[in-house]
Amino acid sequence: MRETLTRRSLLEHVGLVAGVLATTPLRTLVAADLPHLSPNDPVASALGYTEDATKVDQNKSPSYRPGEQCANCLQNSGATGQTWGACKLFAGRLVNENGWCRAYVRKG
Ligand code: SF4
Repeated sequence: MRETLTRRSLLEHVGLVAGVLATTPLRTLVAADLPHLSPNDPVASALGYTEDATKVDQNKSPSYRPGEQCANCLQNSGATGQTWGACKLFAGRLVNENGWCRAYVRKG
């Protein structure tokens, strides 16, 4: 009986910590501290990443369509209205919300 209560108590604490970590202000604080992805990063360069989607070279990236940018890409989990956001492809770095790369997938 005592072990069950202890386990339950532990699960409650884990849930509490997970809830705190999921709060927006903390996520924003952590994200703001991340470095920006360089277009010269080998993977970024291979995917044609640029910080300004309007400057995409369509000869090199024929899949690009005007209006596509990191801000409306499925891989992006940045907060709306921020200049820099998180991309699932480039963990630990932030991409420019006006940027683009060949891994772009339109949201919804
Ligand atoms: S995958 Fe999407 S969000 Fe990530 S860099 Fe490419 S276009 Fe931007």
